[in-house]
Amino acid sequence: MSGSGGGGGSAAPPPRRADLHTHSTASDGAASPACLVEKACAAGLTAVALTDHDTVSGVAAARVAAAQVGIEVIAGVELSAVEDDGEVHILGLHLTAAETVESALEALREARVRRAVTMLAILNALGVPITMDDIMAQAGSAAIGRPHVARALITRGWAKDERDAFDRFLGAGRPAYVAKQRLTIADAIRLIHDAGGVAVLAHPGRQGTLARLKALRSAGLDGVEVRHPSHSAEDEARLGAIADALSLLPSGGSDWHGATDGLRVLGAVSVPVEWSERQALRARRRQQTESGQWSLPGASHS
Ligand SMILES: [Zn+2]
Ligand SMILES: [Zn+2]
Repeated sequence: MSGSGGGGGSAAPPPRRADLHTHSTASDGAASPACLVEKACAAGLTAVALTDHDTVSGVAAARVAAAQVGIEVIAGVELSAVEDDGEVHILGLHLTAAETVESALEALREARVRRAVTMLAILNALGVPITMDDIMAQAGSAAIGRPHVARALITRGWAKDERDAFDRFLGAGRPAYVAKQRLTIADAIRLIHDAGGVAVLAHPGRQGTLARLKALRSAGLDGVEVRHPSHSAEDEARLGAIADALSLLPSGGSDWHGATDGLRVLGAVSVPVEWSERQALRARRRQQTESGQWSLPGASHS
């Protein structure tokens, strides 16, 4: 602990740290945006990015709270994008036009509800009499998805556990499977750019290879999450070196969802504030050079 060791009388000022990956109750986190900001302050962070899944709806409340305690809240989002058969998370950081993201995401949320309604209709036709209320009771305010349908099935006694629910009903190729309408990685990156932010590949782990990151950089990716609780020391070293080599911006954070111990505690994984400042600079530069060049698919052009 700096300051208490007794050795360095002329101690440097404490390092300014940022946690650039956190979730609140606006998605699947346990703490409200205001509570998250208080905890970030208590953890000694200089800045915190709120990166809820597929929504920026918590940012305004986080900013109000931040004004009281004097830390920076970075407007962010964690988008789920498709890549082949898998799901990839793309962080949008330093968003300046969060409402642009929100309206595009609203359309996706509506698609999710339609999907749940379709799954429900199929389940009912199969003789499984769960209701939309059962599903909504599981989803709460979170973006509705198959896990909520699975939990509704478990609660109503139609499945032993989530695995059973997916194996018998909800998994790909099973009777109540309905494909999800999702963003491609390129869509996610463009959406983030259109909202004035930088696009960062979240927690790539071992999948974060030079070839893959090179390809994603060509698709417009700005950065890569180097520090994340799921990353090994080897991942972190490799990703840091690749970020340097490809001029991708490094990022990192705890991916806090409410944990009170371990590496996923708010601020337990953090990065120098300079990383965030470099991201903000890149975002501003892009806005200066590319403003107004791109519009959302389906956006009105009239
Ligand atoms: Zn993620
Ligand atoms: Zn996350």
